[in-house]
Amino acid sequence: MPQDIPAEASAVIVGGGVAGLSVAYHLAKQGWRDVVLLERRQIACGTTWHAAGLIRSNIGSATLSRIAMASQPLFKELEAATGQATGFKQNGSLGIADNADRWEEHRRAYSFAKALGVEAHLVDAAEAGRLWPFLETGDLLGALWYPTDGQVNPLDYAQALAKGARQLGVRIVEGATATGVRAARGRAAGVETDAGTISAPVIVNAAGMWAREFGRLAGAALPVQACEHFYVVTEPIAGLPTTLPVLRDMDGCAYYKEDAGKLLLGAFEPKAKPWAVDGIPEDFCFDELPEDFDHFAPILEHAARRVPVMGRIGLRKFFNGPEGFTPDQRYYLGETAELAGFYALAGFNSIGIQSAAGAGKALAEWIEAGEMPFDLAAVDVQRAQPFQAERDFLVPRVSEALGLLYAMHWPYRQFETSRDAVLSPLHAETTALGACFGEVAGFERPNWYAKPGQAPTYAYSYGRPNWFENARDEHLATRQAAGIFDQSSFGQFDVEGPDALALLEQLSANRIDVAPGRIVYTQWLNRRGGIEADLTVARRAEDAFTVTTGAAVRRRDLTRLMRYAAGFPNVRVRDASAERAVIGVMGPAARELLTPLAEIDLAPGAFRFARTAAAEVGGVACRLSRITYVGELGWEIACAADDAPRLWRALVAAGRPLGAVPAGMHAMDSLRLEKGYRHWGHDVSPEDDPFEAGLDFVVKLDKPADFVGRDALTARRDRPPARRLTAFRLQDPAPLLFGHEPILRVGEPVGWITSAAYGHSLGAAIGLGYVTGPAAGADERFEIEVAGVGHAAAASLRPLHDPANGHMRA
Ligand SMILES: Cc1cc2nc3c(=O)[nH]c(=O)nc-3n(C[C@H](O)[C@H](O)[C@H](O)COP(=O)(O)OP(=O)(O)OC[C@H]3O[C@@H](n4cnc5c(N)ncnc54)[C@H](O)[C@@H]3O)c2cc1C
Repeated sequence: MPQDIPAEASAVIVGGGVAGLSVAYHLAKQGWRDVVLLERRQIACGTTWHAAGLIRSNIGSATLSRIAMASQPLFKELEAATGQATGFKQNGSLGIADNADRWEEHRRAYSFAKALGVEAHLVDAAEAGRLWPFLETGDLLGALWYPTDGQVNPLDYAQALAKGARQLGVRIVEGATATGVRAARGRAAGVETDAGTISAPVIVNAAGMWAREFGRLAGAALPVQACEHFYVVTEPIAGLPTTLPVLRDMDGCAYYKEDAGKLLLGAFEPKAKPWAVDGIPEDFCFDELPEDFDHFAPILEHAARRVPVMGRIGLRKFFNGPEGFTPDQRYYLGETAELAGFYALAGFNSIGIQSAAGAGKALAEWIEAGEMPFDLAAVDVQRAQPFQAERDFLVPRVSEALGLLYAMHWPYRQFETSRDAVLSPLHAETTALGACFGEVAGFERPNWYAKPGQAPTYAYSYGRPNWFENARDEHLATRQAAGIFDQSSFGQFDVEGPDALALLEQLSANRIDVAPGRIVYTQWLNRRGGIEADLTVARRAEDAFTVTTGAAVRRRDLTRLMRYAAGFPNVRVRDASAERAVIGVMGPAARELLTPLAEIDLAPGAFRFARTAAAEVGGVACRLSRITYVGELGWEIACAADDAPRLWRALVAAGRPLGAVPAGMHAMDSLRLEKGYRHWGHDVSPEDDPFEAGLDFVVKLDKPADFVGRDALTARRDRPPARRLTAFRLQDPAPLLFGHEPILRVGEPVGWITSAAYGHSLGAAIGLGYVTGPAAGADERFEIEVAGVGHAAAASLRPLHDPANGHMRA
């Protein structure tokens, strides 16, 4: 039925589930007029209507949790504004543990809740039974109790959002399908629909499990794939209190909630069933999928033991509905790399109800400001890689990803499906040397090297993992002789032409106008002065530069570079990442190792720190850059991908007599943390400015060229930062840090650990984290809380290793 749609809008939101409705509501609340929301059928008819409606605050990651926490006030706000109830009730939630590993996980989550400011309690089995009377508690080690978690009625919530949005002037058009995306001059320009075209400079893809399909119309790859998602509802149970908390039994792959006098039991089974891999049926609307009792049977069997009434009571309803999942279990939020003005909020991995309000608000603020309002790196849509949206990669991966939501959330856990998507040119060489690989943005990288006779596979643990000794030996070899690192996953962008310098000066907080042959470490900032990128720029010639950045942010940094480059007529940007390999030779023996191979003088006075030069190494044409991410003498050596195996073999052979070893990313992480080198996405983000991050030594407020973020930083240059990135080292060598542990100052949480590792040169776990309040004093003792226990830690604004030698980033 043709709909009456306007010819123009300030923003068009595609999708009338909770995600789209929330963005529309928040844009209108920010004062946007002429916002249009298109829904192909009816509001909430996709995934939203059938959700279980569980609401929680602590979702493991800082970003996901902060968004979920920001969602809760909206339920009450909407009820007050619209008179439409959302069914929100805060009965609390209880996560049980019947084994030591899960108990450790819960205790670590308890500590993180403290850092977030979320009320949480560790309770014993008896208390768990009191809180949830139908529970079999005999084998429980304990439970984690969140009194402020709860549940909402998703359909009512969606209707309240729609009503609230309409009240604020949003035009919601049901029965209108977006069929195309128009672009002009590299920006989104409008949406084609089956009822005509709407011109708009902002388009939001909130199409849920249709997001990949709709994204494709804009040329934007969004790896979202539907999976079947199940729950059952029992017959009414006598005496079931309406105040019953939500129960999570992750080892039973199950959650339970009270549902109008009945129990709803939902599942996150280990191997999920992808649905509609050839396309979602055209007429899908409030549909249910066929029941599958065989698939659900193991969940029910376990449930009958854990909640014995489940074995006695009949089932009134078997529900199966689809939800969109992503390759890394996190949703996509933000402006796509492919098309400016084309935003995404989709792929909620079964946390859309609890996240949509905060996520929609964050996206609305992003759209308004043109940049991330706070640290959204974990959900940034620009982490998506185009190949991840391909069926061969995506379908097996989401089948695993759904199950992992309730599996053990082991530190360093690796996906098992859809591996080997992008291989280093050195893959065969490092495999032969025993590499155990980890994946970042699809790129396989040696994380550690197995010893002869040892399998290069992970055995996960909250204690010392099976690769602990391997990483230690690689770390110590790098400090004492040299480590040889495959760094080919790094992004390298060549920026050339008469305007190259002006472009890079505009982006960079450090001065780029240095002599050819020099390397500059710099941040790219947003207008608020927050750190959007953390990278190096090598000036190869007067008007030729190479930007080097990390694997995970390759796409994002390239997008930023290209968008700014569009403002300069005489500059060429080329992504050279895939055609180059990079090998790091790092350690005190690096010079001795390289000297016989390199056709260039590497003597201290001849090849100084932060210099770059082209030269042959082992007969291979290379670019050598004296720079380090581990805090030792060393060179990053870039060469053509085809030549890399030959160069690698020459370096490994030359290094062997000197004690140099191939070393992996785990060793690199521990080395860089000892030197306090930051990692974007963990230690620095668009929310943190260089003063807070301790990076003011590379900010040149008085450089001749203006740069993005300068005004914001200038305005606060004389004020002490409200928080500072600080390095910590535990006094006790035994406990391990993995990130997210709260930092306690005189018992009070003042921040959390943003990244952590074992400092093998220091003999204890170490980490970085922001401390709110005055800077940590040199002799001040802090505690880092690990699984509910505070551990004394030394704090430092200087590097923990070799503090006399340089800033935290040399
Ligand atoms: C069984 C089950 C239990 C769940 N339990 C919970 C829970 O307890 N807690 C929780 O937080 N989450 C839960 N979820 C997840 C939650 O339901 C989803 O994350 C959320 O509803 C996703 O909302 P959405 O707006 O992204 O997608 P949807 O609700 O699917 O909305 C997308 C909309 O876009 C429309 N659309 C698509 N393409 C177009 C187009 N081209 N033009 C116009 N319109 C278009 C569709 O018709 C659809 O209405 C559960 C999901 C399932 C399946």
